[in-house]
Amino acid sequence: MDIEINHLRKTYGSAVAVADLSAKVPQGQMLALLGPSGCGKTTTLRMVAGFIEPTSGSIRAGGSDITRMPAHKRDTGLVFQNYALFPHMSAAENIAFGLRRRGVARAEREQRIGVMLDKLKLSGLADRLPRQLSGGQQQRVAVARALVINPSILLLDEPFSNLDAKLRESTGLEMSRLQREFGLTSIFVTHDQTEAMSIADTIAVMKDGELQQLGNASEIYQKPANRFVADFIGRANFLPGHIADRKEAHVSIVLTAGLTVELQADGVGGSPGDEGEVLLRPEAISVTDAGQANTLKATVEQISYQGSIANLHGRLPDGSAIVASVPPDTLRGLAPGDAASLVIRANAMRWFGRR
Ligand code: ATP
Repeated sequence: MDIEINHLRKTYGSAVAVADLSAKVPQGQMLALLGPSGCGKTTTLRMVAGFIEPTSGSIRAGGSDITRMPAHKRDTGLVFQNYALFPHMSAAENIAFGLRRRGVARAEREQRIGVMLDKLKLSGLADRLPRQLSGGQQQRVAVARALVINPSILLLDEPFSNLDAKLRESTGLEMSRLQREFGLTSIFVTHDQTEAMSIADTIAVMKDGELQQLGNASEIYQKPANRFVADFIGRANFLPGHIADRKEAHVSIVLTAGLTVELQADGVGGSPGDEGEVLLRPEAISVTDAGQANTLKATVEQISYQGSIANLHGRLPDGSAIVASVPPDTLRGLAPGDAASLVIRANAMRWFGRR
């Protein structure tokens, strides 16, 4: 069942929680609502779930308008941040809850619970109370409880935020596998960009109730629509400069750090004299010998090792900070205080004009 959100808006008095959100989630795909605290993610999800009535706009599921349909009539399974398990019920009883409410007969109930326990690797834990389960196990019970009623749509609100980093990753991947296996159309809320990028088909980046960009992980990372998205998704260096010259195919940008770079003209709005910043991802920088083209001079301030990569924190001649993520064996023995030559990949840069 596909979901279509059209010009969705929610205001509380003069406060705008969600300004004007439109997005489509094709059948079987996952949309992540991503953004900092207060950007309107939860409000959006709750409007799709039917817990909050939109001020205007519409929501369609499988072609039908569900904007004003009561929550319990929607074909949705829900998983919340705190799992909201019933503390006095065992894992199996928690999973059974929705089936009982729907009057599913005992034999079928037990069969369906068994399937869920198996699919979510909970066999052997059926009789435990939530407090006797780990955070990851509780989370899987909550997912099983949502899936057992065979919903067409799955809505998840920060479902992994109580888990530690490693478990988050494996549970997230497991979730996306289940979502595909069940053919569920899902929307999930997160403020964690890595999580959104690793499991969602499409990401809606939001800020202050406004949709900033809708795209897949590589689009929003490589072609961020604006400076906010560039900064929120992954790590970013922003180097100040101005447009010096504009030709058919290329635009020359003079960086205040002391380098002129040529960017493809179609990705750069603005005219000569305009000031702005160039986005440069840390991994688009390498340490090199002096004398190569596209090289910035930096003074090394700190080097932090992270296993397969090292982050070189440096200072450019104009005082800007810069971070380069490089394989540790390419550091050439650099240490704080040393002068480093950093070669940058111009085709990985993007220009954001100052408004
Ligand atoms: P978080 O990550 O912190 O949960 P969020 O992106 O989910 O944030 P929402 O909970 O959707 O954000 O809230 C969006 C905005 O709407 C916030 O500024 C919030 O204060 C406001 N808001 C939410 N609910 C209400 C309400 N019932 N009355 C007034 N303002 C509200």
